[in-house]
Amino acid sequence: MAACTRRDFLRAGAGAAALVAGTGLRAGGAEPPGPAGPRAVASGNGLRATDKAVEVLRAGGGPLDAVIAGVNIVEDDPEDMSVGYGGLPNEDGVVELDASVMDGPTHGAGAVASLRNIKNPSRVARLVMERTSHVLLVGPGALKFALAHGFEEEDLLTDKSRAAWLRWKETLSDRDNWVPAKAESLPEQLRSVLSTHGTINCLAIDASGRLAGVTTTSGLAWKLAGRVGDSPIIGAGLYVDNEIGAAGSTGLGEANLRTCASFRIVDAMGRGATPEQACLQVLEAVAAKAKRWPGLCDAEGRPSFGLEFYALNKKGEFGGAGFFEGGRYAVHDGSENKLREAAYLYKRRPAR
Ligand code: ASP
Repeated sequence: MAACTRRDFLRAGAGAAALVAGTGLRAGGAEPPGPAGPRAVASGNGLRATDKAVEVLRAGGGPLDAVIAGVNIVEDDPEDMSVGYGGLPNEDGVVELDASVMDGPTHGAGAVASLRNIKNPSRVARLVMERTSHVLLVGPGALKFALAHGFEEEDLLTDKSRAAWLRWKETLSDRDNWVPAKAESLPEQLRSVLSTHGTINCLAIDASGRLAGVTTTSGLAWKLAGRVGDSPIIGAGLYVDNEIGAAGSTGLGEANLRTCASFRIVDAMGRGATPEQACLQVLEAVAAKAKRWPGLCDAEGRPSFGLEFYALNKKGEFGGAGFFEGGRYAVHDGSENKLREAAYLYKRRPAR
């Protein structure tokens, strides 16, 4: 496996080294004047979530109310096939959801993993935080807990997500007895197997500087039953420190689980990095480790997977970054709600 060279890093516009030193381009980050919030930041699929979060904050809701109300829109939406209802299932065709929440003022955290049949795992994660002395419940225990709190079970597999799973299963091997439908007879979006991952992370700050965050996902599509990604792991898919800021992640959970990215981003902000610089610093650190991960690095030693970070600090400054050019993240800065360009380390996606 070839080693990553500094040249690769420096190829990205002003270059990651300059960014980390605080002199380079700011893709989408901002240093707003005035009070820190209300503001909300989310992954690229979270524009409706940031809008809702700021609406809730303006109506007097707390930051945790705000981010959960925001992501509930996406969890409930069958068209988003990476989160909640309609999320792509595991290899057995069963949707298993992961989510975490963190509340800045109390430094409370709650999470669920491998939760089946409940479309709003973020709300169950909040109850784990508020109504147990635990932080993380998984599988049947998480379901039992949700049912005890009155959540209703429902089949989370939509016709579309089932068809995508069937397509994946039928095209997996020519050494089994599954025969794929002819490509021409398939709806356009199923001709090739759909994108296999996605998640929503949403972070918010209110006018008095109180922070909260949530990350919710159906995880990696076609995963082994019981696989848990980074999203429900505090410090990996989400971390909030009310004195410093909040960070969250989307992308390949296994890469994040090995590097504890969200905690490190918040820690970097605590040592003076802007949100965007902190995201880029930790991306660099993950890229350096990825050189040792067979199958997760291209011939030039660059990561061959996606990982994106989002961060919001105590002052209301925000940033988002991924390995590759072209990423977007959602920001409501208190006056407008829009997608912004994410900062990045690499100019082009590696050919696969
Ligand atoms: N981070 C999620 C997971 O690994 C998936 C994603 O964001 O694409 O479960």
